[in-house]
Amino acid sequence: MNKHLEQLVKLSKFDKEIVGFDPQIKTQNDKLNVFLKTVDELGGKINKISLEIEDAKSKRMKNDIHLKDLAEKLKEINAKYDIVKNEKEAKALQLEEEIAKEQVAFANNEIVRLDGIVTSKESALDELKNELATEESDVEELRIAISKNIEELEVKREVVYKEKSELVEKIDGKILSFYEKIKRWAGNTAVVELKNQACYGCHMKLTNRAYSDFLVTEEIFTCPHCGRIVYKSLTEVAE
Ligand SMILES: [Zn+2]
Repeated sequence: MNKHLEQLVKLSKFDKEIVGFDPQIKTQNDKLNVFLKTVDELGGKINKISLEIEDAKSKRMKNDIHLKDLAEKLKEINAKYDIVKNEKEAKALQLEEEIAKEQVAFANNEIVRLDGIVTSKESALDELKNELATEESDVEELRIAISKNIEELEVKREVVYKEKSELVEKIDGKILSFYEKIKRWAGNTAVVELKNQACYGCHMKLTNRAYSDFLVTEEIFTCPHCGRIVYKSLTEVAE
């Protein structure tokens, strides 16, 4: 293979590798984010349920206060029985007592209901807190593993950068700028294989004439359809 072409094949391989690191790093971060999202969601659920518990407790407290008021009221009513003057007043007092007793019964039922809510929500809260603790320790483990993976990827990327810059220094300036120009629009496919008489950049078949030119040339050859630099497929040569 032409020496310049050989360099460009290598260079393009390095460029492709370098670009390939970003998605690999992103995959690592995405993995962590999935777990962080779960932690967030658990945190949200814990907040919500804590507020619901507080709300039920404050309602229970109101009922307690109400019960004390009602007890006072019943005491007053009882005291009034001693001083009723006639049946009409006695009946009115009776009615007042009945209403107050109904209110007591209602408040007691509410307290039982609210206590039930608090109990069940508190046990749900405990479960969520346990879940969160487990999840947080998993996340911590994962974070350590992931930052190690990312570090390794960055080291590998540095190696490729270094190899690339060493190679770039050796490449003829004109050849390099020719490659860069194609790379500007072709990206990672500036240098591609030519296999089965087709360019692996644009997937168009070369005419027989162009193909025989390609086979004999010692120069850098570009695809007549797209302009990418093409080289003989190594696997095809081996066949
Ligand atoms: Zn092409």
